[in-house]
Amino acid sequence: MMKVYVAPNSMLAHHIKGLLNAAGISATVRGEGLSTTKFDMSTQPAVWVIQNDDAKRAVEIVRDYEQSGDHDTVTDAPAWQCSGCSETIEGQFTVCWRCSVERPSGQ
Ligand SMILES: [Zn+2]
Repeated sequence: MMKVYVAPNSMLAHHIKGLLNAAGISATVRGEGLSTTKFDMSTQPAVWVIQNDDAKRAVEIVRDYEQSGDHDTVTDAPAWQCSGCSETIEGQFTVCWRCSVERPSGQ
């Protein structure tokens, strides 16, 4: 299990999960319904992939989706820098889309 994406709302989280499922990636949504404040990443709905090997492809699919239209996928999460390749990753992603290194905890 690997968390790949934090969604601003559970509707979008489920939509992303559906996209991944359609691409043959087993994914699940966790953390929904617990949100008290949108600034608390731990209580926002997040999309997880069952197989860690699918994480990189999953992030690519979400990026393609975000770039394909005017979707409201913006979160208040700050961008972070990958420890593997130094790429700057948008805050809603919890895995590097280049090298699939996980976001460091505490960032
Ligand atoms: Zn990286």
